[in-house]
Amino acid sequence: MKKKILVANRGEIAIRIMRAIQELDYEAVAVYETPDKDSRHIRLASEAVLLGDGPRCDYLNIEKIIKAAKHTGACAIHPGYGFLAENPDFAKACEEAGIIFIGPTSKVISDLGNKVIARKIMAEAGIPMVPGTPNLSPGEDGVQEALIFAKKHGYPIMLKATCGGGGRGIRLIESDEQMRKEIPVARSEAKAAFNDDSVYLEKVVINPKHVEVQIIADKEGTTIHLGTRDCSIQRRNQKLIEIAPSMIGDKELLEKICQTAVKAAKASNYTNAGTVEFLIDKDFNYYFMEINTRVQVEHTVTEMITGIDIVRTQIKLAMGKPLSFSQNDVQLRGHAIEMRLNAEDPQADFMPEGGKTVSVYRSPGGYGVRLDGFVYQGYTIPQVYDSLLVKLTVHGFTWSETVSRVRRCLQNFEIAGPKTTIPFYLNIVQDPDFIKGDFNTSFLDTHPQLFEYKETSNEAEKLSKLIAEIHHRGTNPYAL
Ligand code: ADP
Ligand code: ADP
Ligand code: MG
Repeated sequence: MKKKILVANRGEIAIRIMRAIQELDYEAVAVYETPDKDSRHIRLASEAVLLGDGPRCDYLNIEKIIKAAKHTGACAIHPGYGFLAENPDFAKACEEAGIIFIGPTSKVISDLGNKVIARKIMAEAGIPMVPGTPNLSPGEDGVQEALIFAKKHGYPIMLKATCGGGGRGIRLIESDEQMRKEIPVARSEAKAAFNDDSVYLEKVVINPKHVEVQIIADKEGTTIHLGTRDCSIQRRNQKLIEIAPSMIGDKELLEKICQTAVKAAKASNYTNAGTVEFLIDKDFNYYFMEINTRVQVEHTVTEMITGIDIVRTQIKLAMGKPLSFSQNDVQLRGHAIEMRLNAEDPQADFMPEGGKTVSVYRSPGGYGVRLDGFVYQGYTIPQVYDSLLVKLTVHGFTWSETVSRVRRCLQNFEIAGPKTTIPFYLNIVQDPDFIKGDFNTSFLDTHPQLFEYKETSNEAEKLSKLIAEIHHRGTNPYAL
């Protein structure tokens, strides 16, 4: 009988992981909540376990997931990204149940999930970072500590949730008055979002670039890197577009950053796949920001330029195999760009379009094009989960070839029903600064014209109506 691996996630993520599981000749076990009953990740699995009605809480229920793994006889669990992927209690529960957790150890997840502990480990290892505080003390004492730090380093200052993630729990503070006001608010929000009210401060890097390094480490102590990614194009500290490799500075600078990332991974006893994130200032100084202890949404760009299947590698490492390739085997070829195509309306503050049915779905293809999605024609987007439809990743030999390929793909997409982020991305890829590779984390703020485009949803509505009519008359709508 084939061994089974359970995937504790949904949608695009679950499908990405299952593909690697099936290629390794294991059987994939899916889990789902009732609102996801029509999701393609269920159909692609060998078997699927209904966790409950959710929404979201059952995907996060450690006990139910461990029970599903035991019930189906799965020997390992892949947590994907999001949900339980960075929850040390989940990794621990797997360890205790004798189930392999595909990721680092619970100790590493717990240390690095706490930004203050992570900074302490990195400071001891001599990794460069911006000045920061430990956790602020509770109450007025914490406010006083913050004001002393602000006096020494000057505003602006980042107030961060110590256990935050996903771009949430970060506030830019510009005055003593705002500091006093925001600390208690930040605490209660952190408590609600991350079940921990700790907050701390970091000096701000002005208009930085976000550059991160993919690392992979086996249990025998070999740690290597797979090059850099630039994730500077962000909205509210959350990544929108990612490219590989970073085009900042020269090869020597990038090599230095990669070596620092390997050192950071070793300092935290890292095993499996992870990402070391850095901020880079205009003078090319780089500063450690955090380590994400999981595979990331944007891992696809690294896969395209290295040819290494990161999820496949993760699974093999978790099964106890040593790394089958060395640093010298890792060659970076060309450029890759990844975009998250969401059912959202960028002109209405990215309002999610959940609840709508995708009445037309035609995707681009061709050389250097990769689609990671789960949407299909006739699929109704659940309102209770995120609004990702499909991830588009393209690869090209030169940067300009890659940009032109991604533009062509965006133009080739035909999606009717929900509004999507596609017209907004089309503006980005035709922007002269983007084409030059000239962007940092303030890109959206400094390019408000990106939000100016003709609303296409009426057109989309018309198209879907037309298709419905043709369908009604018995003509094949797919041949339109
Ligand atoms: P990255 O690109 O660095 O992997 P994303 O912002 O794309 O990060 O987040 C990936 C997924 O993980 C998203 O679904 C996001 O909501 C989720 N996520 C990230 N950090 C956390 C966290 N601390 N708690 C809960 N979910 C998180
Ligand atoms: P998360 O865990 O939510 O991913 P990070 O600490 O990785 O949080 O920060 C997310 C983003 O917030 C960064 O990519 C950057 O744009 C911004 N940011 C975080 N810290 C700083 C800082 N000290 N100075 C400037 N920008 C920052
Ligand atoms: Mg981050």
